[in-house]
Amino acid sequence: MALSRDQIVDKISNIIGPNNVVTDEEVLKENSHDRYRKYETLMGLYRLPLPAAVVKVHSAKDVSLVLAFCNEHKINVVPRTGGTATEGGLETIVENSIVIDGSEMSKIIEINETDMIATVQCGTPLQVLEDEVRKLGLTTAHSPQSKPIAHMGGLVATRSIGQFSTLYGGIEDMLVGIEAVFPDGHIAKVKNVPRRACGPDIRHVVMGNEGALCFITEVSVKLFKYIPENNQFLSYRLDDMKTGFEILREVMVNGYRPSIARLYDAEDGSQHGFDQFALNQCVLIFMAEGPKPLADATVSGIEEIMQGYKEECTQVDSKIIETWFSNLNWGPDKIEAEREVMKQHHHMGFTTEVSGNWSIIYDIYENTLNRIREEYPRLKDVTMLGGTPHIAT
Ligand SMILES: Cc1cc2nc3c(=O)[nH]c(=O)nc-3n(C[C@H](O)[C@H](O)[C@H](O)COP(=O)(O)OP(=O)(O)OC[C@H]3O[C@@H](n4cnc5c(N)ncnc54)[C@H](O)[C@@H]3O)c2cc1C
Repeated sequence: MALSRDQIVDKISNIIGPNNVVTDEEVLKENSHDRYRKYETLMGLYRLPLPAAVVKVHSAKDVSLVLAFCNEHKINVVPRTGGTATEGGLETIVENSIVIDGSEMSKIIEINETDMIATVQCGTPLQVLEDEVRKLGLTTAHSPQSKPIAHMGGLVATRSIGQFSTLYGGIEDMLVGIEAVFPDGHIAKVKNVPRRACGPDIRHVVMGNEGALCFITEVSVKLFKYIPENNQFLSYRLDDMKTGFEILREVMVNGYRPSIARLYDAEDGSQHGFDQFALNQCVLIFMAEGPKPLADATVSGIEEIMQGYKEECTQVDSKIIETWFSNLNWGPDKIEAEREVMKQHHHMGFTTEVSGNWSIIYDIYENTLNRIREEYPRLKDVTMLGGTPHIAT
């Protein structure tokens, strides 16, 4: 017979201590969903069944005991760390679920400067790890916009990707080893070795599982030298996206690896303030980094390619782009500003990401925008307020 809410709370309290089992209603509400429902949260509208408890774990053993218990009693479990996910992933849609909260597992276990690997517990905020390794002249090179608020377990569970991915890849290219607990309580560890000769690679089962297969307790990620003094920005304004995509392709297929390669259309660019120097125009941005000879070579390679587009593209002052870039990430201040705008105007925005090959990426872009314009004609009136779309009324 299924356990009642109270029984679940009592039994889990016996397993890992009552202080680690939270039943406060506000906490339960906040943990019933992810940020996909940010507007509902703001307005106090909680439509999903509330979990029976939010269970704070502090070790792989805690997770193992709780998961084994839940497995035995068929209790649904939703893992969380930073709570910044925006895709409406795992939520407590089943009555009497529990949320396992790994945010207090926040220890940096080792920073190995010889192997260039950092090992941390799942609740370590990426920003905290980044700040720590920077003291040693190193970087994780992982820079999702949510860097100040997302935690390492969630970043691995969602197969996250950051702003420098053209050079360093997504988390799947950075993750060396991992520890995860499976539903029956088994603690599995994938060692930190440079390569494996046989597959399948279990890291890829764990990574991107979105909390549906196992609970990630520890991750080891690569480290790189941090040499921002060599960073070089290149930026251009141009009239059409098609040319922009062609240039991006040419840079990449010729083997250059800028850390940033981005193309904004005029509407998107104006939301970032690019209309100050590119009114009604697209903006193309590159950043080259790494050891100086490599960064210089990347810049001169891109400049050579851009020579072929002299008629279509005008170079702009890279300082403007540097200022934009240093203000790109979202910390608690921007989240609060977004809430204020939502409260006032009842509009909200999300980012949609699409992956497509060179041969179809422009068509995807064009068709998507045409369809949106057709189906949502009022969107042409949208402006951004504090990072949130606002339709002037
Ligand atoms: C302003 C903003 C900007 C963003 N920018 C980016 C971006 O640039 N790139 C990007 O990739 N994402 C981005 N995101 C999305 C989000 O930050 C990422 O998905 C991040 O990986 C979530 O990490 P978290 O610690 O907050 O995870 P949570 O929100 O706690 O959880 C995310 C998912 O992973 C699962 N999960 C969490 N912890 C564990 C664990 N220990 N074991 C197993 N499963 C777990 C959860 O069940 C859930 O399904 C952004 C979000 C916001 C709000």
